[in-house]
Amino acid sequence: MMATRGLSTRATTLIAVKWATVILWVVVSGLSLAALLAPTPPDLVTLHGLTIALIALTVSSWLLVAFSLAMVFSAAAGLLSLWMLSASHGAPLLWTDVLALVVLNGLAGMRQHRLQRRMHRLKQQVNDVSEGVSLHAQELRQAQQSHEALTYKLARYQRLHAVAEQLVRLVELETIAQLAVEQAFALIGKSEACLLLLADKPRPTGGYHQALALRASKRGEGLSPIQMKLGDQFDHYVVRTQRPLLVNDVRRDFRFTASAATDRPISSVIACPITIGETVEGVLRLDSVRPQAYTQDDLRFLDILLDLLNTALANARLFAQTQQLAITDGLTDLYRRQPFLEQLAREVARASRSRESLAVMMLDIDHFKRYNDTYGHSAGDLILKAVASLMRKTIPPDGICARYGGEEFAIVLPKASKAVGTEIADRLRQSVEAHVRPMGNGQRDAVTVSVGVATFPEDAQSDLELIRRSDQRLYHAKRSGRNQVCST
Ligand code: GH3
Ligand code: MG
Ligand code: MG
Repeated sequence: MMATRGLSTRATTLIAVKWATVILWVVVSGLSLAALLAPTPPDLVTLHGLTIALIALTVSSWLLVAFSLAMVFSAAAGLLSLWMLSASHGAPLLWTDVLALVVLNGLAGMRQHRLQRRMHRLKQQVNDVSEGVSLHAQELRQAQQSHEALTYKLARYQRLHAVAEQLVRLVELETIAQLAVEQAFALIGKSEACLLLLADKPRPTGGYHQALALRASKRGEGLSPIQMKLGDQFDHYVVRTQRPLLVNDVRRDFRFTASAATDRPISSVIACPITIGETVEGVLRLDSVRPQAYTQDDLRFLDILLDLLNTALANARLFAQTQQLAITDGLTDLYRRQPFLEQLAREVARASRSRESLAVMMLDIDHFKRYNDTYGHSAGDLILKAVASLMRKTIPPDGICARYGGEEFAIVLPKASKAVGTEIADRLRQSVEAHVRPMGNGQRDAVTVSVGVATFPEDAQSDLELIRRSDQRLYHAKRSGRNQVCST
């Protein structure tokens, strides 16, 4: 602060001295001219004094004013001094003055010239250095930019890695879908919505008009939830072409109709097909109200995320199928024995807590071995399927049906009393007798069943005891001539 003030004071003084020198030079030159042009010639002392003043001012002008102006000053001073020499009729004193003026100005001019050359070289060096500095600054800027881009990419890949780790642990489709939309939304950014749509059923080969249903969605902060439940033109386009899609501006893209936009305004879209196994089964997409929101880099990134998602979804489907196979019987689509017993235990506990009744039925096809022997094993299988199908139709929705063993079935009827259980069991027995034939419809040889019914709490208090009691009654029904229900 102090140094700056000192510098500016010195600069002001220098300017004042410079202007004073110039003004004095003009004044002295004017006085010299006036003296030379006066009618009476000036005396030697005046001439000498004026020449000395001119010498002093011209020499100092070399130090204070521009080089060219100093040259003008010294040339004019030279002419004036020569004029004064002639006016003094060649007085030796004036000769000395002229000589002094020439020598001193020459020396000052040469020195100034050397200084100017050095200044010029210095300026050039400064220019070279500053050019180098700006070049380096540019390189530094570029390096910083690529560093930022790399850091951004690294952060995205780290996040992707975390997503991959999370996805391998998930087996439920809904959870996977929700994680996918949330992560895609965060990873790509710049969006108002991220949607995941899946075909309702596995798509038939060749047909592209399967409805796409919204399975998970993510909206930006403070935005209303997604209204649409089915896919729109963008989603269908991705499923049809089976390729990733990047739309910069819907209004300028001939593939889409801007007016057909959804319930909310959309300008940019980025989307990738979801492929489970070999077929495209859905779409993961992001959209924005702003045009040019996404880059090819975003699309590449989404594609990588989709690779992870596709694998996770394929695993989820496999898991669901395995689970389904583990709990249901492949032929009849009813529960297997073990999951049924688990369900029964839960239902008995619930009935016991809520003090409600519950009925258990054991059902066995009469003379089944005979059908197998007469019509073949496949015909026997069809009878099993037909009986299972009738069970599903006859048993109330809260009832649980199972294939307990070969041609033996078990049923739980929550909240059913003995009377209700017996009534439903007999309806089922009659229905089988009326509709099931060993070789399909039109035969007189009816398939019949025998049923044993036991109820909670009067017949038994535990699940296993209920099974045992209904099984006993089933065999009682068999012994009593088959095609009947025994509940006592
Ligand atoms: P009952 O009236 O006393 O019950 O006589 P049944 O012939 O029905 O009883 P049995 O226990 O003697 O025979 C049951 C038969 O069911 C024996 C077995 O070969 C057959 N079976 C078991 N599972 C299947 C199956 O999945 N498909 C077919 N077709 N037959 C089966
Ligand atoms: Mg049988
Ligand atoms: Mg049997």
